[in-house]
Amino acid sequence: MRYFEAHVHYQDRKFEPHWPAIAEELNRIGLFEAVCNGTSPDDWQAVAGLSQKHAWIRPAFGLHPWHVGNVGKGWLNELRQLLLSDPRALVGEIGLDFWMLKTARADDPRLSGLNRAPIEVQEAAFVAQLELAADLQRPPTVHGLDAWDRLAQILKHARLPSSGFLLHGYSGPSEYVARFIDVGAFFSFNGNFLSPRHARIREIFAHLPLEHILVETDAPAMPLPESHRKYRLPPTPDGSTPNHPANLEVTHAALAEIRGISTTALADAIEKNFFRLFGRNLP
Ligand SMILES: [Zn+2]
Repeated sequence: MRYFEAHVHYQDRKFEPHWPAIAEELNRIGLFEAVCNGTSPDDWQAVAGLSQKHAWIRPAFGLHPWHVGNVGKGWLNELRQLLLSDPRALVGEIGLDFWMLKTARADDPRLSGLNRAPIEVQEAAFVAQLELAADLQRPPTVHGLDAWDRLAQILKHARLPSSGFLLHGYSGPSEYVARFIDVGAFFSFNGNFLSPRHARIREIFAHLPLEHILVETDAPAMPLPESHRKYRLPPTPDGSTPNHPANLEVTHAALAEIRGISTTALADAIEKNFFRLFGRNLP
């Protein structure tokens, strides 16, 4: 069986000391291809480096909403050049995050050192990157948090690549699903949704049309509930436990169970969806 990782951050520093072992584990589970998403100019070169070293890593470059408040003037041009320099490269991770403005605590460690960009600034960066994705026909990966209405409006009116876009780790309301599908959305499921408090999200993924589903880990983020973790990494000095990217295997199996289909039937569907959205890269 071949696995496809729709959204991950292999370039994260937390993986660095363990990378050879992780790459070997991913090979062992049968990972065929993975989309590795950059988040700011600070990590784009690391993503490019990994994708040059491993043919199965598809690079994606984008400015994540968390980092919009921290970049200098030339970022969009740098992004365009990077995309032009590699025909395999996709756009991502981009999007809107109003959670960090409305709900996140001032001392949330995940946001430490970041200037939280106001709504209008986030939207301008998002729209500019959608335009670039459409111009170059590089399907974008979109992050959304507490911004569903604006996301739906912007995606409805934006030019988009003809194959569509990925709404990764979709946690929005079920009422929005049809609106997003109408404008070309694919939705990826991650292992964090196996937590008891996410029954509502599992319900959405139980009923989404199969031809719009992908699977992701978003590692090192989005850890699985303790009881579902099969692959583990040691805690980092700050006490957090990074999600091991090989947990894609258990995430996939759990989604098959939620859908009431076999893991191989799900793998067949996901392979088709992955190629339909991102295009065929490896033979
Ligand atoms: Zn991500």
